[in-house]
Formats: sequence, C-alpha cells, structure tokens
Amino acid sequence: MSASPPFPDETKLAFDRQILAALESINDGFIVLDTCWCYTYLNRAAETMLQKNREDLLGKNIWEINPEAVGTTFWEKYHEAADAQTIVEFEDFYPPFGKWFHVRVYPSEAGLAVYFQIITEHKQLQQHLHFLFHASKALSSSLDYKMTLQTIANLAVPHIADWCTIDMLAEDGSIEQLVVAHPDPQRVAWAREVRKKYPLDRNANRGIPHVLRTGTSEIAPVISDDMLVATAVDSEQLRLLRNIGFTSGMTIPFVIEGKATGTVTFALAGGGRHYTQADLAMAEELAARASLAIHNARLYRAVQQSRDQLDIILQGVANGIIVYDKDSHIIYANEAAARMTGSASVQAMLETPPTGIAERYELIDEQRQPFSHSRLTHARVLAGERDAQTIIGYKNTATGQPERWSLVKSSPVFGERGEVTMVVTIVHDITERILAEQRKDEFISMTSHELKTPVTSLKGFTNVLQRRLAKQGDEQGLHYLNRIDAQLNKLTKLISDLLDISRIQTGKLAFQIEAFDLDTLIHETVENVQAATTTHPLLIKGRTGAQVLGDKDRLGQVFINLLTNAVKYSPLANKVLVRLSRDQGQAIVSVQDFGVGIDQAHHQKIFERFYQVTDPNEATYPGLGIGLYISREIVERHHGSLEVESRKGEGATFSVALPLLQLSP
Ligand code: ADP
Repeated sequence: MSASPPFPDETKLAFDRQILAALESINDGFIVLDTCWCYTYLNRAAETMLQKNREDLLGKNIWEINPEAVGTTFWEKYHEAADAQTIVEFEDFYPPFGKWFHVRVYPSEAGLAVYFQIITEHKQLQQHLHFLFHASKALSSSLDYKMTLQTIANLAVPHIADWCTIDMLAEDGSIEQLVVAHPDPQRVAWAREVRKKYPLDRNANRGIPHVLRTGTSEIAPVISDDMLVATAVDSEQLRLLRNIGFTSGMTIPFVIEGKATGTVTFALAGGGRHYTQADLAMAEELAARASLAIHNARLYRAVQQSRDQLDIILQGVANGIIVYDKDSHIIYANEAAARMTGSASVQAMLETPPTGIAERYELIDEQRQPFSHSRLTHARVLAGERDAQTIIGYKNTATGQPERWSLVKSSPVFGERGEVTMVVTIVHDITERILAEQRKDEFISMTSHELKTPVTSLKGFTNVLQRRLAKQGDEQGLHYLNRIDAQLNKLTKLISDLLDISRIQTGKLAFQIEAFDLDTLIHETVENVQAATTTHPLLIKGRTGAQVLGDKDRLGQVFINLLTNAVKYSPLANKVLVRLSRDQGQAIVSVQDFGVGIDQAHHQKIFERFYQVTDPNEATYPGLGIGLYISREIVERHHGSLEVESRKGEGATFSVALPLLQLSP
C-alpha cells in the first residue's frame, strides 16, 4: 500500500479555493511574483490599488510594466528580500500613484509574495500632526511673529510643501512677501526676484490677492498648464512658472478680527503629490493658530508702545508716581518718585524691599505725631479703603536732610474679579506750602499773644471807668463805655480763638476733665446765648439724661459756637431748635436752624481751619472760619464726633455725639 498523501486531493483543492477566496475578499493588496519578477497572482484589492486588470499583468515582468519604479525604494527592497531570502517590511511614497504604501515582502523559492496597504491618509495625518505640533510650539514661543512665521515656513518644507510663502497686507494696502521658504536658498532668492519683477495684481480673481479680499481659502489640487497660462502676464513669466513645475497649491488667509491680514501659501512642485481637503483642513488649522499669534503679538506691541509713551509722560511729571503690587512691592516708579524718596535711581527704588523706603525716614503726621507704616495710603488701600489720602512729614535722620512734607494719595486698580491688583500712589511735595502755613501759624500765635495783654488792660480800665461813671450817674458816658466793653468782649473772644488754634497746632490744648451733667450745661449755655439774642427763640427739646466726662467750659464753648452760628446763618428764620437725645451709648446734642444751609460740597471743608463758604451772590457774614475747626477738635478730643447735615437753602443741623459716662439719677 502506498502512503496516502497528507491531504486527499479533494480536500487540498477545497482548501486552496478557501485561501483564494479569502485573499480575494481582503482589502489589502497581495501579489505573487516568480523568480523572474513576473506576476503569477494578484488579488482584487491589488488590481484596484495598482489600477490595472489582472489579465494585463499576469505573466508580465513587474519592472517592465512599471519602468519608473526601477531604482526606487520598492525596487531595492524587493531585490533585498529576494537576494537575502529575508522578510522585508517598509513604507514609502510612490510618486506615479501619489500614494504612500506599507509593504511586506515574503521571499520563497518560487519567488516573492508581496502584501501591501495604502497608508496615505495615515501618513498624512502623522505629518500634519507632527507639523502642527512643532508649528504651535514655535507660535507660542515668541512674540516676534515675523520670525515665528519664518520658522513655520521652514518647518513646512519639504514634508508639507515644496514651497511655502507668507504674504502680509501692509497698511497702505500693498502685499508684502514676508517669507519664502524652499530647501534650496538659491531658489528662495530667485523666487524673491521673480516676485519683484512680477508684483501681485491686487485685483486678481484668484490667488493671494483674491484670498486677501474674500478671506476664504483656495485650493488647487492639480495645477494644470491651462492655469499657468491663465496666470502668466507674459511669455517670460509663463516660462518661469512652467520651469518651477507647480503641481498643486493652496492659499489660506490669516483672519484677525474678521479681516484677512495675510496669507500662507503652500505649493508642491512635482513628486506626484497633490493637496487634498485634509491638507487644506490642516493648513486652515495652522493659519487660525498663526492668526491668533499675530494678533497677540500686535496687541502686545501696541500695549508696549502705549506703555512706553505713558512712561515718557509719567517720567516728566513733577509729582512722584509709584505703583505697588498686591504684596506692597513697588512695580513702577517715575524719576520724581525716586528723587523724593532719596533713591539713587528708579531702578534702585524698584529693587528696595517693601518697607525699605519708609524705614529711611522718620515719618510724622500733621500734628507732628509719629506716623505708623500701617497708615501709609497704599497699605490702607490694600486693606480695603477705596481712596486714601494723607499728609506725611519725613526727615532722613541719617543724612540730616531738612524736613519735607508730602500730600500722598493712593487709589486701587481692580482685577477682573474685582480684587485689588495694584495700587497707584501719587506723591505731591507740599513742603513749601506747609512751611508757609507754619510761618503763618507762628505769626498768628505771636500776634494773638501780643494782642492779649493790651486788650486785657483795656478791658480792666474800661471796667474801672464803668464803675466810676455809674457812681457819677453819667448815663451817656456809661452807654459809650458799654459799647466799648462789648467790642472788647468780641476782641477777647477772637484772640482766645486764635490762641486755641495755636494750641491745637502745637498739641497744647489742655482740658480740665470732670464729670458733669450734660443737660444742665446745655440749659445754661442756651440761656446765656439767648440773653444776647433777641431775634430767635432758642428752643430745647428732650433730654439726654446723661453724665459725661470732659472739660465743661471747652464743651460749653462748642455749643456756644454752634448756637451763635445757627443764629448768624439764619437771619430770616424765627427759631433755633436744640434736641437732646441718646443713641447707643452716646449722648446726642443737635442744633438745628432754618437758614441758608450748606451745600454738600462744603460739608467736610467747613471743619477746616479758616474755611468759610463764600458765594458771590450771597450776603457775607462776619467771622474767620475757625469756630467749627476748634469745636471739632474739642469734641474729638472727648472721643466724640461733630457732624453736619444740611442742604443749601434748607437750614443746617450740627450734631455732637459724646460718649456717656453714666445716666443721671
Ligand atoms: P465762621 O462762622 O466764623 O466763619 P465757622 O468755623 O464757625 O466759622 O464756620 C465755618 C463756615 O461754615 C462758615 O463760614 C459758614 O460758611 C459755614 N457755617 C457754619 N455754620 C453754619 C450754619 N449753621 N448754617 C450755614 N452755614 C454755616
């Protein structure tokens, strides 16, 4: 019995048929070549990919059918597999088909079995991603967009394009060729020459000018000779265009704020490659990223320019300008600020630690009391105040520099979430003003002292004379003396007010502190003022029922002042109301009149020294503008407050609030 074959013939045939059917149904190409490089089999997918029918190929030599493949990677790799009898695997672009192939070659004694796939899309995607990745990195790495665009063009050639040009629309509407990229620098120089010789026609209905006008991309997957003929302006240009041999191209606009401001053009010249919609999508993605980068770079430049301009202005300003960040670090200072703070330069000032500058000086406030760092205006704004202002005196004890004074104002700069991101401080040197004020204060203080003695003796002698004339029964003489006495009283009051001012200035206003009944003081004071007032009844309402601790005479002086003002500034009214009440641990005394009132704009100022509301259309009232200044000082030294509520033409209410000592029995 002969040995039976491993498979019965029937079974083998069936098996072969099965394999064949499987090979026919797969999507990958499969060909078999014999040892003479002739096709012995190719499947349906291979027919499609090679764009040939199997009848035309079977029995034919592969290199005769595709002579252009001789010498290519395909040729080399097939020979390598056949010669070395090893499996060879590779990827390559095959220009005649314009496609990328992934190929595996299996050698056998009978020839080669070749198994291949078209991977053009996959390859393209890989290249696109690679390019986009590097281009994006370049775009985000610099604000010099011209250089960045050059980098991108260089990245594009040769994988994405043989040529890459970038054109920008200049302000005058001309089109400037910013970048030309090609692997050969000579070709780049030549392309620039050609552009010079044949500038773009701004009204052309295709190409870069058209893309700039419409803001939409253009793609020419295949550039035909007809297209070159249509583009060329003369035979010379046509010759040049044919010479380059453009085969495919696309132009994409850079759109910034809805306007095309430039274009990027990619072109292929030969090599069987053609741009597809996928290439265009990638290029549009790149152009969108580049547009953003160009926009940012331009914005940055604009900001930089306006900052430079602003800096020139600020550097020339006589006031010191300092900008602090939220941690109190100085991030900007002008020259005046550096000078005022004794810094060698602006740079030196910027390098000084937060409290370094204040520490150089002994700081004092207007009352010549030590000025703590927490009261500095930028610190107050950082702590939440909206606008802070103060007068600071400063002396550099180390250098012996004479005392200087500044009016310092700080305001916040808010971030997007309403948080304080910076503080702007303006320092105005007011040394001259303060010195002049000091001289004026000294003069006032000196004159009032000098006046005090003669007025006191005048008053004394007047009183002696009054008594004498009364004895003699000289009614007329007495009448004149009383008038003199009244004027002397006014003069005495003025002098004592002026002396009070100097005392306040020098911190020497003294108080005799005792506990007393506030209501009693008010009743006595009102009675005294009423005795000298015939025009207005002074009416008291309510009671505080409070004992307070303080200087009875000084507080009496405050109420006299408020009552006489109320009478003085309401000539047409017929009463003044004094209300006594208590509110949250405080005794409140308010004096209301129905007179000329005070406009809101003056509400704080009337408490300043020598401030008087003047209105050219209104009657003038005698006075020096010092009563309220002294009154507020006295009340505040009693830990109380003195405020005004008023509107022009509607009378005024001045309220004194004093802390309660205890309630009266
Ligand atoms: P003087 O009354 O001597 O001018 P004051 O310091 O007492 O000084 O007052 C300052 C200014 O405030 C006054 O000049 C006046 O313009 C205004 N003023 C004070 N009290 C009243 C009031 N009751 N009604 C209207 N204006 C007033």
